This record gives sequence, C-alpha cells and structure tokens, in this order.
Amino acid sequence: MDKIICSKCGSEYSIRKIHYPVRDTDTVDCVVCDEVLKSWRKSTTAYTAKLEVRRVNHLKPPK
Ligand SMILES: [Zn+2]
Repeated sequence: MDKIICSKCGSEYSIRKIHYPVRDTDTVDCVVCDEVLKSWRKSTTAYTAKLEVRRVNHLKPPK
C-alpha cells in the first residue's frame, strides 16, 4: 500500500490500486480540501484513498 500526501493541505492517505474490467476516467479527491490526489484516464487501473491523518492546519488562508 502506498502513502500519498495531499499537496494542498498535507493530509495523509493510504492509496490502494484496484483493477476495473472496463476502462474508466476518474479522480480521487482529498476529502479535506478537494485537491485531486490521483487521476487516471481511460485506464483499467483505478485508485481508492483512505484518509489516515487529517491536516487542516496546513491550509493556506485565501488572499
Ligand atoms: Zn487536501
């Protein structure tokens, strides 16, 4: 299992690869800040992310 850290808020996810029988285009988004964690296009390999560490303090305030 791979770890991925959201580039926007710093929350940590464990990423799991799954295989679909059909090609699909989709994304996995950060549940904290909606940043795209993983995206794929017309692929039978998809991903699921499980939130491990929620880090909202790293969010930058809007200017
Ligand atoms: Zn995030």
